[in-house]
Amino acid sequence: MTGSFIDEKRIHEAIEAAARPSSEAVAALLAKGRSLAGLTMPEAALLLRAEGEEARSAIFETASYIKNAIYGDRLVFFAPLYLSNHCVNDCAYCAFHAANGAARKKLTQDEIRRETERLIEMGHKRLLIEAGEDPVNNPFDYVLESIDTVYSVKTPKGEIRRLNVNVAATTVENYRLLKAKGIGTYQLFQESYHRPTFERMHRGPKADYERQLHAMDKAFEAGIDDVGIGVLFGLYDWRFETLGLITHAEYLSKKFGVGPHTISVPRWRTAATVHIAPEFLVSNAGFLRLIAVLRIAVPYTGMIITTRETPEIRQAAFRIGISQTSAASSTAPGASGAATGNGAVAQFELSDKRSLDEIALSVMRQGFTPSFCTACYRKRRTGSAFMDIARPGDIHEFCQPNGILTLLEYIEDIASPESRAAGMEIIKKSLEAIENPAIRRETEERMERIKQGERDLYL
Ligand code: SF4
Ligand code: SF4
Repeated sequence: MTGSFIDEKRIHEAIEAAARPSSEAVAALLAKGRSLAGLTMPEAALLLRAEGEEARSAIFETASYIKNAIYGDRLVFFAPLYLSNHCVNDCAYCAFHAANGAARKKLTQDEIRRETERLIEMGHKRLLIEAGEDPVNNPFDYVLESIDTVYSVKTPKGEIRRLNVNVAATTVENYRLLKAKGIGTYQLFQESYHRPTFERMHRGPKADYERQLHAMDKAFEAGIDDVGIGVLFGLYDWRFETLGLITHAEYLSKKFGVGPHTISVPRWRTAATVHIAPEFLVSNAGFLRLIAVLRIAVPYTGMIITTRETPEIRQAAFRIGISQTSAASSTAPGASGAATGNGAVAQFELSDKRSLDEIALSVMRQGFTPSFCTACYRKRRTGSAFMDIARPGDIHEFCQPNGILTLLEYIEDIASPESRAAGMEIIKKSLEAIENPAIRRETEERMERIKQGERDLYL
């Protein structure tokens, strides 16, 4: 597959043309945003370039409104599980790059089992597995076997119910094999939509811009219909990259009728043996602006922030559009302690090192419902079936009860006394907020069953 749907000239022109938009133009775009219609790439450029406190707060307020209208107050939690830091690529920003001579670690299936148990004991129900690209050390069969291993782990505290996967761009045939393993989202980041930057940052098979850009086309061809896109902010101009993400979302939506299930917004972080000094570091203000604009432009998508970011930035980002977050993460294979002989070089440094329970408590204090929900994938609400519910803003009718039910499980099985008390308050408030009396009754009935010891109840 060749040919790029990223027209760099058009994106640059849109940024140029968007300088100092009038307050009337901004207001009209925000009104469009509130209707959940999304924005085109040039429209989003105007919001990225709107100046002044009034525009800033109106953009944030609209993003917050949209996030609540579509997803409600829930925040879905997940944890990454790094399988292996062997990698043949030399990405300039990543500590797993091949030129880093540090010892490598690949988890055995036994170690994966123990890591999974440990993450389940913390309360996780949803994981994202990650592995470097290395056909010899991490052959595709290893990834497939590891998925089986994670799904096979059952403990008294539960099991992993949705496994998302972030591995290198591959063939349609391999994507079919992934699909057959029952994965949730397939995630792959373009890192930079700006070709010269992309080519400068990469050595090895990943340096093929087109391979990266068209990976999702192949995933769709293989039947995977929940895909997650992202860039690494800091490599190139953040406005260009944000518009690149929106262009990619438009492309997928037009070609497959299904936009990205998630958009991730990692910002560059320092890492061992990474010596680049990115010219395009994004300020906190720019970072929050791009999150808000993505939420308005691609309203239906899940938006992910990780523990790369500080608790303060995460807290601000939750208010303006983020709907999923990692918690209690490590970025090295086996770093949570279940692996032995560990050459666990970490991929990058973390800024939020709090435990899952601490993070859950903190988001509850901000009024969010921590959710461990995995219902859609298991109810076959994926791809266009998911989009048909999410686009008009109806998915919160599922998110809200499922958030309550999974939080109650967390409270029954894991939570500290403090989190338990805060969680019961949140559940009470969330239950009252369910508009449909039949759904509220159904949720209450399932809550009783959870209190009696049943688990994994969802709508
Ligand atoms: Fe390897 Fe991915 Fe790191 Fe690049 S970003 S060096 S492909 S693990
Ligand atoms: Fe996610 Fe669906 Fe659960 Fe909502 S109901 S939290 S969209 S899995």
